[in-house]
Amino acid sequence: MSKIKSSNLGYPRIGENREWKKALESYWNGDITEAELLEKTGEVRLHHLKKQKEIGIDLIPVGDFSLYDQVLDTSATFGVVPKRFHYTGGKVDLDTYFAIARGADDAVASEMTKWFNTNYHYIVPELNDVTPTLAENRALNYYNEAKGKLGIDGKAVILGPITYLKISKGYEESQFSELVDTFLPLYVQVLKELVDAGATWVQIDEPIFVTDVAENVLAAAQKVYQTFAEEVPEINIIFQTYFEKVSDYETIVNLPVKGIGLDFVHGDSLSLLQEYGFPKDKVLAAGIVDGRNVWRAKLGEKLTLLETIKQFINEDQLIVQPSSSLLHVPITKKLEQKIDPIVLGGLSFADEKLEEIVILTKGLQQGRAAIETEIQKSITERNNLQANYRSNDKVHEEIKNLTPEDAKRNVSFEERSKLQEECLNLPLLPTTTIGSLPQTKEVRSTRAKWRKGEITDQQYEKFVKDNIKRWIDIQEQLDLDVLVHGEFERNDMVEYFGDKFNGFIVTENGYVQSYGSRYVKPPLIIGDVSWEKPITVKESVYAQSLTDRPVKGMLTGPVTILNWSFVHDASHRYETMKQIALALQKEVVALEKNGIKIIQVDEPALREGLPLDRAKWEEYLKVSAYAFRLATASVDADTQIHTHMCYSNFEDIFDCIDALDADVISIESSRSHGEIVSTFEENTYRKGIGLGVYDIHSPRVPSVNEIKQNIDRALETISPKQFWVNPDCGLKTRKEEETVAALEVMVQAAKEARQVK
Ligand code: GLN
Ligand code: ZN
Repeated sequence: MSKIKSSNLGYPRIGENREWKKALESYWNGDITEAELLEKTGEVRLHHLKKQKEIGIDLIPVGDFSLYDQVLDTSATFGVVPKRFHYTGGKVDLDTYFAIARGADDAVASEMTKWFNTNYHYIVPELNDVTPTLAENRALNYYNEAKGKLGIDGKAVILGPITYLKISKGYEESQFSELVDTFLPLYVQVLKELVDAGATWVQIDEPIFVTDVAENVLAAAQKVYQTFAEEVPEINIIFQTYFEKVSDYETIVNLPVKGIGLDFVHGDSLSLLQEYGFPKDKVLAAGIVDGRNVWRAKLGEKLTLLETIKQFINEDQLIVQPSSSLLHVPITKKLEQKIDPIVLGGLSFADEKLEEIVILTKGLQQGRAAIETEIQKSITERNNLQANYRSNDKVHEEIKNLTPEDAKRNVSFEERSKLQEECLNLPLLPTTTIGSLPQTKEVRSTRAKWRKGEITDQQYEKFVKDNIKRWIDIQEQLDLDVLVHGEFERNDMVEYFGDKFNGFIVTENGYVQSYGSRYVKPPLIIGDVSWEKPITVKESVYAQSLTDRPVKGMLTGPVTILNWSFVHDASHRYETMKQIALALQKEVVALEKNGIKIIQVDEPALREGLPLDRAKWEEYLKVSAYAFRLATASVDADTQIHTHMCYSNFEDIFDCIDALDADVISIESSRSHGEIVSTFEENTYRKGIGLGVYDIHSPRVPSVNEIKQNIDRALETISPKQFWVNPDCGLKTRKEEETVAALEVMVQAAKEARQVK
């Protein structure tokens, strides 16, 4: 009997009918009790485990589940709770757990940032002032549950100590090894308890090792895994990496663990394997099926790749698995009723990917002939999709004829800003918001009714218009300086455009977790992208007609649209980015022609799209800046271009931000507690900038003083002439009362700050 095993690294949490999301939100709203929340989410969790078993996965991950985020779970495991949440030790209770993520009345939430190069956000652990202990062995609880309730001897998943520490904050580099020593015995304890419960496999996620890590970090890994090997020899540890090839292959594969998990889809792990070989005493857990996209695998090619890999390892020491956790793809394509069957045939979501894993494992065990039918099917389906690729010669022609001038504003920023000042006539420290206003239940249910055909187009349009009007009035009353129409007509900032550009299709249920209970539905790009007719002009023009204050036109930028879509791999990513930029340019021109003088083109995904492999940075940043300018540069000098990015850690992209040549940028900053300002101490940036002055991810209403402090801190480094006052991000997830109350405070703080200047 072959020892080759199929495995999974993690499963989406949301639930087929979004039961997980609904339960969480009901709990936060006070509609269900803690016991009900645990019961409902428990059902989802067990259902997912059962499904994986039925599909035939040998090593089923347990403990990948979370009620919010797996990094926050790791913090809760070790009692890493910032002082301001009044934690007194022991198991972190549910409300404290959620408070760290979402804020409490008397405590701001912990910072949230993107998980490597994904659109998933984790809660950044704060290590200052905490005394780590083993507060709750969460992995053990999940292991026991799966075993007890389903008879599944799961593979426990835990976030590895080195990655955990490297993505935490609140300590100096010099304290790193001391922290490793603090956490090491706690991790050992976690593993020992797993062994006692009968666990044989554990997957320790250490994705930090696909980035460049310093010598001391590698040394720490050697020490940690050596200790595990000595103290808990009974357990089979898989040292799991993903999203890129590892940066120090030889060190990593020689760590004293049972197995090494490598990504054979992103980054060239195969070359490393061929060049340096693989230890004969270890299992290679090969990430073969792409965990980051939704396209059916070419099974024949995948099997060949596995057969190649097999030549370099010891007989049967192989685990077949996805390239990463399936958290980053939707659950199952079975829920899609409306997609063109040809496209549907070419798709593969989480469940289908697991089926592919099982088929490939069988192919390896029993030989190619055993899966020949499936191989043929995958070829046919992929070819059908390919043959249907919607190609557009006109777009190719336009791209070919572009000149550098097309992506360049012909007036310098200094000149432009004078003209814009005259045209817009704004006060010092102008106030604005990021675009979206609360998407209330009513907004969402009205859209759903319209989708189902229960209300007419006219009724829906009137509803959107009424909301725009109501909110223009509210914003005027609040005395905001630059208004927005509120994005009530949009479900999501990428899906909305995907639905309207040629070359995209949208799914009904293709949800992917973004943060907490927030999910996005990335559209699929299955053809050349082009613009057909105005998309946003109607709403923007209507909003502008209601007020004398400027209303910002609101678009999503080319980098973000690309990064947050699933791009059919027949298209070249950067070519697609240019096509999107060109399509957006036409929308920008249409807005301007219709009297919109400020146009914001959001690029919240620019930073996360940065390749993990540094060698690929330069090209990415260059193409991204070019695409943004291509979309925006054709406007008149007195039209003001804004951009917005969520999350502030952008030291790495500072030059690129400048190269976007946007007149004003707004970025998140309130949760990073002033750290971001120091980026500006080290770099000069002359264009307009709005550092978010309050956190919109939390329902908490800030005080005037808090906001004023944020403004004052920023003004120590940034000129008041450059500075804009705005929240961190869009307000669509907030309730109406919270939003009005918070904006009132914000405007008040801006007015007070103006008086001093
Ligand atoms: N304009 C968008 C909004 O306000 C921006 C969202 C984002 O940055 N993610 O919702
Ligand atoms: Zn944002």
